[in-house]
Formats: sequence, C-alpha cells, structure tokens
Amino acid sequence: MTEQLRMMAVHAHPDDESSKGAATMALYVADGHEVMVVTCTGGERGSILNPSFEPADLAERPAEMSAVRQQEMAQAARILGVQHRWLGYIDSGLPDGDPTPPLPDGCFAVVPLEGPTRDLVRLMREFQPHVVVTYDEKGGYPHPDHIRCHEVSVAAFEAAGDPERFPEAGAPWQPLKLYYSHGFSRARMQLLHEALLAAGKESPFTEWLAKWDPATPDVMDRVTTRVRCAEYFPVRDDALRAHATQIDPASRWFAVPHTIQAQLWPTEEYELARSLVDTTLPEDDLFSGVRERVLA
Ligand SMILES: [Zn+2]
Repeated sequence: MTEQLRMMAVHAHPDDESSKGAATMALYVADGHEVMVVTCTGGERGSILNPSFEPADLAERPAEMSAVRQQEMAQAARILGVQHRWLGYIDSGLPDGDPTPPLPDGCFAVVPLEGPTRDLVRLMREFQPHVVVTYDEKGGYPHPDHIRCHEVSVAAFEAAGDPERFPEAGAPWQPLKLYYSHGFSRARMQLLHEALLAAGKESPFTEWLAKWDPATPDVMDRVTTRVRCAEYFPVRDDALRAHATQIDPASRWFAVPHTIQAQLWPTEEYELARSLVDTTLPEDDLFSGVRERVLA
C-alpha cells in the first residue's frame, strides 16, 4: 500500500479552488493522496455572476447568499474529493469606483495578519500537509483578498514548523514545499484561441487578447512545474458548475472542448516558491522530492 501524501490548497473565496488547480487536486485524490482546501472568506460580498441563476436577487440578502455559497462549496468539495475548511473571515469585496472606496471594516484584507496566520498554522499542524499551494504576491489577479491570501499562506508556511510561533496552535509541522498556482497564461489563451478559430468555432478569448498589454510578462516565465491532469478537466468543470451563483454554465470557462484542451494544453501550472527538499526543475509533480523523502 502506498503511503499517503498530503496537499493543502489555500484560496480566498469559494469557487477559487475550482478555477485554479482543481484538476491537479482531483488527480492527486485519485492517486490516493489527501487534499485539503482552505477557503479564507465566505464570499459574502460576491454578486450573482450567472445570469441564469434563480433567485436573481439573492445577493441582496447576504445571510442567504452566504448559506447558498456554503452549500455550493460543499458540493464542489464532494466533486473534487477534497476535505474542506473555512478560515472564517469576511470577504473584502472588489473595490469599485474612482477613487476606489476604502475596504469595509473587519474584512479579511484589513484584519491584522497575525489572526488568520494563527488560524492557518493551526490547520497546517492538524492536517500536516507536505505541499502547500497558494497565489503569487499579486494574488493571481488584484483582488485584495487574493493578495491577503498569499500573505497569510506564506506567513503560515514559515511559522507552522517553528515551536516558538503560536505554541497554542498545536505541535509544529513544517510543510516541505510551497507553490503559487498560475492559471492565467497568455500563451495558453493564444494557443486555444487559434485552435478554436482554425476549427471554425468562436473564441471566448478575442476581447482579452486584444486588450492584453504586450509589455506584461506571461506567467509562463515563472512556471517551474506543469502537472498533466487533462483526464480530470471534466471533474474540474463539474466542480466549477457547483458554484452556480458565480459561474454561468454558458460562459467562457466551458467554451473550449476538452479534446482541444487535452491535445494542446493538458497541464496546470505552478511556480515552486520554497522547497525544503531536493528537486530538479522543471518538474511535472508537486510531490517531486517529497515522495523520495517521505516514502523512503
Ligand atoms: Zn476569489
């Protein structure tokens, strides 16, 4: 019997786990490993992004919206086969306006780093992940909760193994690798865009590609690790659809046929940010070097 390895993915909002690295998680679950998703906020300030969702005015009743998003998250976790924990913080919302309004009192992005770091350290010491995945310092995209999620994840990764930090939060456990997930690659978008046009189909990427500033470096420049997981793209899409308030089933998420994706871009991408084990880059497995250390 293979000994289990454990991976923890830390996300800002319910639905982020299904749009960033979901197929990788489903793959590792299928391989017999344990995966835990931690969601920092309840997504309370999300609006209804799916025009076909009923009731359309749910977002006007925050308590109900929050309850529905909890059910959606539970369903997505079942589909992916992962364990799930809430960190218990309040969604900061995406500030909108010029000038942008201040963030709401008490939201995740403004509470002192110490509290959520302690909470995440406690979960790391309980679950004992070998690998932790989060966003890069820009949050993957500039939502204040995503940037905060990065800061909390890095701080907890550093603190979890230190007996002097948060001694009340359990026995020290040092995860061995920290990754940033990179889902928003221009190279990928361009490739799929061209394949769709060549097949005489409509591309959902036309507008994005037209607006893309060519001076912005592609995240692929930072990618160290590509995990082949195309077999689990349908599972990823089912998990995404479970977030019915957020995800329009007719949207661009589902516009590229799986056969084209599997042929042209069968991977999910990561950047190795810290490693306490020996590994050789580029990698094709988040547990590279960990398997050798833990299962030896
Ligand atoms: Zn988010």
